[in-house]
Amino acid sequence: MKVLVINCGSSSLKYRLIETDTKTVICKGLCERIGIGGGHFKYEVIGSDNGYEKDVEFPDHNTAVDTLIKAITDPDKGVVSDVSEIGAVGHRIVHGGDKFTGATYITPEVMSVIEECSDLAPLHNPANVQGIKSCRKVMPDTAMVGVFDTAFHQTLPEEAYLYGIPYEYYEKYGIRKFGFHGMSHEYVSKETAAIMGKDVKDVKTIVCHLGNGASITAVDGGRSVDTSMGYTPLDGIIMGTRCGSLDPEIVHALVEKTGKSLDEVMKLLNFESGVYGLSDYMSSDMRDIRDACKNGNMAAKRAFNTYIYVIVKYIGAYMAVLGGADAITFTAGIGENSSSVRKQVCDRLKGLGVELDDEANNNGHGARLISTASSKVKVYAIPTDEEMSIALSTVEVLNKQNKV
Ligand code: ADP
Repeated sequence: MKVLVINCGSSSLKYRLIETDTKTVICKGLCERIGIGGGHFKYEVIGSDNGYEKDVEFPDHNTAVDTLIKAITDPDKGVVSDVSEIGAVGHRIVHGGDKFTGATYITPEVMSVIEECSDLAPLHNPANVQGIKSCRKVMPDTAMVGVFDTAFHQTLPEEAYLYGIPYEYYEKYGIRKFGFHGMSHEYVSKETAAIMGKDVKDVKTIVCHLGNGASITAVDGGRSVDTSMGYTPLDGIIMGTRCGSLDPEIVHALVEKTGKSLDEVMKLLNFESGVYGLSDYMSSDMRDIRDACKNGNMAAKRAFNTYIYVIVKYIGAYMAVLGGADAITFTAGIGENSSSVRKQVCDRLKGLGVELDDEANNNGHGARLISTASSKVKVYAIPTDEEMSIALSTVEVLNKQNKV
């Protein structure tokens, strides 16, 4: 089946058309600067030079969806002859609160619940809802499925999702750990089991999704049992510009000592902290940090070492949570590409049975084993594919509902 995957932000819309039978991408692209002027459209056809880019004004998300559908169905450069060839649309939805434990067929009732979750992700959920509405306008008869960043973590046990605050605040306001990057953690943990030649039910994996945003998840038999991001994606390990876990009193101290407002401090913790802040605002990009480290830059080394230390700490904690892990898997921009991050992390885990194969770590690409044959805990580098995960979950939902 051909599934159109839509990842809608407040001013951008990423799309990908996937043939799920063969797990291949047919075309992909991006609508940029929606609603803010100076719009730009990108359309890439895999294995063909029919793709193009052009400036287009996108006053709203409806125009963005119209533009991409016209591109896909264009008689000359399109990839389908009619919109009816698209079997379903899979929408990425950031926050499903504790309402959704998996991907869901979108009904008017489901739309209302997604809208209710907007106060948990005010920057993301309203845009996701807008994306669904815009697609409905152009494809009123096409099945739509919502796939949630949070859903995979709904299996967290109570002891892992509760914070040490009065229980009434969980009950009244739903303050709890939700976790994010669910599609990636689910996809990569399944791929890890597949590459090990085992059933996912028999594998304990620690998935390290290290991108600009980053999170680590303990997966036991295909179920997320703990994850480093929390109530929001600010929690957990140090990220490109996000601080990760902090003593909450630091927020208070920063307000008092810097004279910044609470909102300004929260902005600082989201956009000027992490690797960027620790490196004296040098860069949030791990390639820049790695190059600067090679040149002996102390600020870059400080940021790199702190980043590695926190990852090691979380992996150690999750090994304890799982009662020992069969595998550690690195994924996303840094996890897939940075052999030096993987090396520094794994070398510090030697005492826990992790033995990296330097040759395999430094060479090769794609999904692969990078630990030695004698390593008690296997280590893998596996590319994540959130869009493929959304497309496959979409088909799964339709199969269950007998819509295919
Ligand atoms: P996100 O989706 O959260 O924006 P990505 O998964 O695309 O993030 O990862 C972005 C990060 O990956 C950046 O910090 C970038 O430096 C890093 N990255 C990409 N390629 C490499 C590489 N070859 N070596 C080290 N880091 C890399």
